[in-house]
Amino acid sequence: MIVEQIWTANAGRNFNYLIACEETGEALAIDPLDHQKCLAAAKAKGWTIKQILNTHEHHDHTGGNQQVIAATGAKLAAHANAKDKISGMDRGLRAGDVIRIGKTVELECLDTPGHTMSHICVRSHGDTPALFCGDTLFNAGAGEETLIYPGHDYIARNLGFTLDREPDNAKAKAMLPQMEKQDTGKALVTTLALEREINTFFRLTSPLVIKRLREAFPDLPDNPDPKTVFLRLRELRNKW
Ligand SMILES: [Zn+2]
Ligand SMILES: [Zn+2]
Repeated sequence: MIVEQIWTANAGRNFNYLIACEETGEALAIDPLDHQKCLAAAKAKGWTIKQILNTHEHHDHTGGNQQVIAATGAKLAAHANAKDKISGMDRGLRAGDVIRIGKTVELECLDTPGHTMSHICVRSHGDTPALFCGDTLFNAGAGEETLIYPGHDYIARNLGFTLDREPDNAKAKAMLPQMEKQDTGKALVTTLALEREINTFFRLTSPLVIKRLREAFPDLPDNPDPKTVFLRLRELRNKW
């Protein structure tokens, strides 16, 4: 499996992806908003885009579909329940469905409601475990070494939020200055293990996270369950 991460340099800080089979050069485009960059990258690599996957229905993920289809004849797949929201869908996906790319790549579909109710994440198995998680903050049942490919570059801002919640998070503190000046054309690809260290949304049982949360929400119960902590953190992040 070959992954090409494409930095759109737009205001939404979107990442688009091409995933290719190294034997056949057949490729899948994930959320190819910047259709010109996606088509140019495929051409430069000698790949043929045969399929498009939309992780969900938001325009910053679907806005390049028609141009890529016009140029390549690619088939469009998205969550089965998105069929009235995304025009021209050829395939409706459900949990457990498999997307095959060429001869060597298989991606498993995960039904991941939250950001929207018809959101799909896909993960690869085999040599390179990877999770393409769109706009979902997702606690995968995946291995720690799994590579995380998100729909946007929000890492510097998210590290800032982690430090707001956990001022003593040494790893986040060390990474923030590097991430603020990182080359988004060669963005850091994190792993699930790293996310567990630096992403406060993966640290829902941390005593410090809960203590600080109680300062903002005095009504927080004594031993809040992870979902309660997650929702309260999300509330803070929305206005942070
Ligand atoms: Zn979205
Ligand atoms: Zn988005």
